[in-house]
Amino acid sequence: MTAKPKTIAKKVTKGGEISAPKGMRDIIGDEYYLFQGFFEKAQEIAMYYGFKPIETPMLEHENIFTSGIGEGTDVIDKEMYTLRTKGGDHLALRPEHTASLMRSYIEHGMNNQPQPVMFYQYGPSFRHDNPQKGRYREFYQFDIDSLGSEKSILDALVIKTMITIINEAGAPATSIDINSIGCKECRPGYIRELVSYYKKHMNDLPALDRERLKTNPLRILDSKEEKTIEINAGAPDCVSFLCPACKRHFKEVLEYLEEMQVPYTINKNLVRGLSYYCRTVFEVIVDNGDGSPALTIAGGGRYDYLGKQLGSKKDVPGIGAALGVDRIISMPWYNKHTPRIMKKPKVYFIQLGIEAKLKSLNIIEILRKAHIPMMQALSKDSLGAQLGMAEKSGAPYTIIFGQKEAIDQTVIVRNMENRSQENVKQTKLAEYMKNLK
Ligand code: AMP
Repeated sequence: MTAKPKTIAKKVTKGGEISAPKGMRDIIGDEYYLFQGFFEKAQEIAMYYGFKPIETPMLEHENIFTSGIGEGTDVIDKEMYTLRTKGGDHLALRPEHTASLMRSYIEHGMNNQPQPVMFYQYGPSFRHDNPQKGRYREFYQFDIDSLGSEKSILDALVIKTMITIINEAGAPATSIDINSIGCKECRPGYIRELVSYYKKHMNDLPALDRERLKTNPLRILDSKEEKTIEINAGAPDCVSFLCPACKRHFKEVLEYLEEMQVPYTINKNLVRGLSYYCRTVFEVIVDNGDGSPALTIAGGGRYDYLGKQLGSKKDVPGIGAALGVDRIISMPWYNKHTPRIMKKPKVYFIQLGIEAKLKSLNIIEILRKAHIPMMQALSKDSLGAQLGMAEKSGAPYTIIFGQKEAIDQTVIVRNMENRSQENVKQTKLAEYMKNLK
């Protein structure tokens, strides 16, 4: 007996309608072109600054993220999509790109290449967060990273590249928030001071932040809890605790930014969510101009310890930035970059009769090879319907291909503006079309 086919399970429906998973969406039509235009422009800018492309898998071994990003962060504790394969592997959908990139660097022994190696990558990331405006469960990031050098000039280069992409996307005067959270020499002293400060305010700290005091006290600094924000105003600031090497590094980064006229504000409460950061951390927050809360459109920092956390024998210093593409392209100021392949159709192709339909794809192939953008309605048979669609398409020319033309190996090219027509040999079609204005 064959199994009864299952009806669509409740899980794939929303209010009885079939739908994509919560917080995930199809990218269609104009929105697709917004993404594509952004990615093309961002790649071009990153390429001119010396970054090379890379693509890593969307799935990684789960421990790449747990040991890299670290427990005590929302991303790991609550937001990761994990799965167990039939073979028993524990995998996770990437919640960000950096840990995967570091895994790739180690796996391919990139430390043997001239350092640093600089990459850009883009694509979806996944976090099981509460969807809201500008927050999805599947979202798109564009990342730029430099691995293998701890020099401050690379922090400046990554920041400059990020800001250039944001400015070219149309952002009005963008300033970055920047801070240094020190290294393993100076951070413990700072954290001790911070913990003892929070302990003094223990009774006023909201439960969530009291918990963070045990797991990841630095995170309390960027808490969104109202009471904590008040307490944070008097918290000791990290920069005063930096060791001489970190202080020098931070000062150099700021000097480079000033030299390049990248506006910045030192934000002593900026620590960022992921625990692998050290020294430089930064964010770009913008007001989207419609009265809704400001959104972080990009952020990043230095991650000099991540390599060893993932199993590298040697430290792999790194610095990177991630741009939130969904957010950038939804801004009212977004400068719609037209994708390179987007071309207005020059010709509308019309076919009539069985003989012509059979040979239609050959004519389309001639046009494709000649790079003539075209539209067609191959599924239609009537001349009237096809002419109507040609008219609406706005294409300045139509090609009419009927029984007679199929036999004669010609086509009719019609100028849609003055209605003049010409019979053109198929062998001459590419050249003829190219010469038309
Ligand atoms: P993060 O890896 O958290 O620093 O994120 C880098 C950038 O990605 C942020 O500045 C946001 O612009 C964007 N981003 C992060 N999480 C989401 C999300 N759930 N939905 C949309 N964009 C996001």
